[in-house]
Amino acid sequence: MDKNEYKELKKQLLSTKKNGYDSLSQADRGAMEDYCAGYRRFLDAGRTERLCAAEAVRMAEERGYRPYAPGMDVKPGDKLYHCNRGKAVMLAHIGRKPLSEGIQLAAAHIDSPRLDLKPNPLYEDSELAYFKTHYYGGIRKYQWVTMPLALHGVVILKDGTRVTVRIGEEEGEPRLVITDLLPHLGQEQGKKPLATAIPGETLNLLVGSRPIGGEEESGRVKLAVMKLLNEKYGIVEDDLSSAELEAVPAIKACDIGLDRSMIGAYGHDDRVCAYAALKALLDLEETPVKTAVCILADKEEIGSDGVTGMQSAAFDTFIEDLCAAQGTALRSCFARSFCLSADVTAAYDPNYPDVFEKRNESQLNHGIGLCKYTGARGKSGASDADAETVAYVRRLFDEAGVIWQISELGKVDAGGGGTVAMYMANRNITTLDAGVPVLSMHAPFETVGKLDCYETYKGMKAVFQARA
Ligand code: MN
Ligand code: MN
Repeated sequence: MDKNEYKELKKQLLSTKKNGYDSLSQADRGAMEDYCAGYRRFLDAGRTERLCAAEAVRMAEERGYRPYAPGMDVKPGDKLYHCNRGKAVMLAHIGRKPLSEGIQLAAAHIDSPRLDLKPNPLYEDSELAYFKTHYYGGIRKYQWVTMPLALHGVVILKDGTRVTVRIGEEEGEPRLVITDLLPHLGQEQGKKPLATAIPGETLNLLVGSRPIGGEEESGRVKLAVMKLLNEKYGIVEDDLSSAELEAVPAIKACDIGLDRSMIGAYGHDDRVCAYAALKALLDLEETPVKTAVCILADKEEIGSDGVTGMQSAAFDTFIEDLCAAQGTALRSCFARSFCLSADVTAAYDPNYPDVFEKRNESQLNHGIGLCKYTGARGKSGASDADAETVAYVRRLFDEAGVIWQISELGKVDAGGGGTVAMYMANRNITTLDAGVPVLSMHAPFETVGKLDCYETYKGMKAVFQARA
């Protein structure tokens, strides 16, 4: 075999991992930057699941979507949405084919790891005032100390009045912080494993230090903090028991790298896929063939349980109502539907090669990552899509010119993770995991590649625009 024959054979038979920048067109480069600027704005507006849901509704209404109520007509071209308790959003662009032919779905989640305030949060110790927190989702606790934090959420008064709390977001506003030991006194702590060095009960937010009243009084700093909250929000301490207040990193999304090729931010998991799915749906110029549905779910980080999670019947109710309007049974619609479970995956990190299996890992700038299965050990907790489904998405993406890669999340038995995929698949919806590879996933500040963000958007669009 001569040299040229060998080269040709190699090209024909062997696959090559390719950096997406080698095939990204000049037009796509510009479109990618515009897309990513919009994504950064979405991140800064959507610091919590409630804020993300509100931003999604605002964007959808701007593009002609209207709230759906059972009993309404459901015709091709209709743009409908339902916001579930302010924390999850489902949107549908009704297709030319009836719902009995199935729907094309993208499901992402808008909750991210964070620190929730406990129901009885405020206390004083050694003349300093604190909020007790209870972490939400899988965090590495040591990453959350000595980091400027903002506080977002709602306090619901007994009469149902909603008070919106927003502290530490704007320029010039104060931030909150969790302190850590100084190295001089941290020798014993430094010997502990990372997972135990910062116990959950030490994640206490420092919220004040200035006392009021006479020196003979006690709890003066706590009272001073409560007085401030009362003046700003009209609440008393007991009202904090019916509140959802979330401490999140007070850091705005920004470009990363001297070449500005990446985005650093809090909450890429999974707002990077949520934005891609939402934007792709809103950008559809024509009525899709099949009904296109985007779901932005809550509670994924704690198992998708609860009334706003992906296991909730709220989703089935929404689709069932749409089906009813067209005289279709939900189960026949689901049986012919396809879902891209749009969630982030781990990007290969050359700083930590030990936990990755390089041949089967997502790489930054190699495009949207498809995962046949997620899960742990022998893939427990995975929906494990069939080969037919992977082939379907391969074809769909290739036809639409989407840059994609196929991967697993880490070495076998190195750990693992789950997504909403299994809850969609359990409904008898053909489902495949796909999403943006992330560096330092679940950290207060995560990093993604712009190319992967944009290709994920293109992938979502291809799913919504599928002909069959
Ligand atoms: Mn996720
Ligand atoms: Mn996650």
